[in-house]
Amino acid sequence: MQSPSFHVQHYIGGAFVEGTRRFEIFYPATNEIIGTAPEGRAEEVDAAVQAATHAFAAWSRAGAAERRRVLKAFADAIRAHAEDLERIETWDVGRPIRENRAGYVQRLAANIEFFADFAVTHGSEAYPMDSGYINYVLRQPVGVAALITPWNVPMLQATWKIGPALAFGNTVVLKPAELTPIGAWKLAQIAHSAGLPPGVLNVVHGFGPESAGALLTQHPGVQLISFTGESTTGKIIMGAASHTLKRLSFELGGKGANIIFADADLDRAVAISLRSSFFNQGEFCLAGPRLLVERPIYDEFLQRFIAATQQLRVGDPMDPETTVGALIAPEHLQRVRSYIDIARGTQAEIVLGGDQPDLPAPFNRGNFLNPTIIVGVQPQDRVCQEEIFGPVVTVAPFDGEEEALAIANGVAYGLSAVVQTRNLGRAVRVAGAIDAGTVWINDFFVRDLRVPFGGMKQSGIGREGGHYSLEFFTEAKTVCLSN
Ligand code: NAD
Repeated sequence: MQSPSFHVQHYIGGAFVEGTRRFEIFYPATNEIIGTAPEGRAEEVDAAVQAATHAFAAWSRAGAAERRRVLKAFADAIRAHAEDLERIETWDVGRPIRENRAGYVQRLAANIEFFADFAVTHGSEAYPMDSGYINYVLRQPVGVAALITPWNVPMLQATWKIGPALAFGNTVVLKPAELTPIGAWKLAQIAHSAGLPPGVLNVVHGFGPESAGALLTQHPGVQLISFTGESTTGKIIMGAASHTLKRLSFELGGKGANIIFADADLDRAVAISLRSSFFNQGEFCLAGPRLLVERPIYDEFLQRFIAATQQLRVGDPMDPETTVGALIAPEHLQRVRSYIDIARGTQAEIVLGGDQPDLPAPFNRGNFLNPTIIVGVQPQDRVCQEEIFGPVVTVAPFDGEEEALAIANGVAYGLSAVVQTRNLGRAVRVAGAIDAGTVWINDFFVRDLRVPFGGMKQSGIGREGGHYSLEFFTEAKTVCLSN
């Protein structure tokens, strides 16, 4: 296949801007250069914040219905570009195109459309007092929102933040991950042609530390930051943003448990576990890479899970038959492999994978790793505690609910979990006791946009989704009306 050559630009004040310094973009499946993107420095960040500040006056006053009209056009245009966006996401991330064709782009459009509708239909609080006074609450836009996103599901993350930020009347500067700049540029083009007013959405590319990311977190013209990324980065951003007291929402790392009780439907448990382990090559914050299996079915589950994993097809992400794509970058592949080496140095056993697949050129130069299953681990082992963010999972037996919960909760993270059982009472008990912002019972990665999304412990601060996004992206103002 002919490699593309993307010439990514910033999008500032309604114009596509070259910038001065450029960095290369690599296709994870071959490590070929597939384009370049500009690195935003102080000048571009400042221009974007100024454009957003300028646009805020009209956009914040436009009214929810007018914003909905514009955002609906944006969502429709996203759908109209579905094929293009599916391919771009694969060029950016290395994820199999079949995963992008399974509703990914529909969800991008829904992220925009849902919040546009929500902003029009939500009401507000009013408290008639005995004195005859009425207190009521206005929800008003905050200002300029910096949206800082990671590389693993880049367009999903971007739209998940752009949708509510804009629908509730804020203006935006998006800083996409440096490893995946193409999708954000494409979304800006789509927004532009759909008629988003200049300066309402701005995109500045670049890196984190001492680059566009850090500059945004310090900029006095930015009032709020919605950040998704590593927990360590969240801590740095919190420090940087403290000087100007910005409002923060953090969606951070995860190390989800996938608890499979002996009474679970085994076929279904295997299918769900395949997805929660290897969706997006395991580069997924919501993944469930710690499989905990009740002892009576441990051997049978493990055998079936290994057999099902062996059926996965690793390779060319553009091939519709491929089910596991490439990891984002050589350094990340190395980091993921280092955890396999760590496991090798302990009592653990690698029962599947652990090596790279033998692929034909040009994919022999890509960042591929065979899906890897590790057993014989202890809960405190590093492979069970730290976020690996790749197709590497551990499977361990447990005895009874209490032990399962103790292991599941014995990590620093608390983003998501999967519970698989036919016993309704147990499902409800375990879901209630687990430290996680989201728990799936006998399923994985299904979420209504109205529910709160976010993590406990080191997995985040705050929630977004439905009225939780409304709360983050608006100021609540109390008005007291006298009689
Ligand atoms: P990262 O923290 O390295 O980078 C995320 C973004 O922050 C990038 O745009 C990066 O340029 C920017 N950044 C880095 N340092 C910065 C700084 N000092 N100041 C400002 N911006 C900075 O994360 P990543 O490697 O891109 O993504 C993987 C991580 O994201 C994993 O930990 C994963 O669990 C997490 N994640 C969480 C969720 C969630 O919803 N909780 C979703 C997806 C990914």
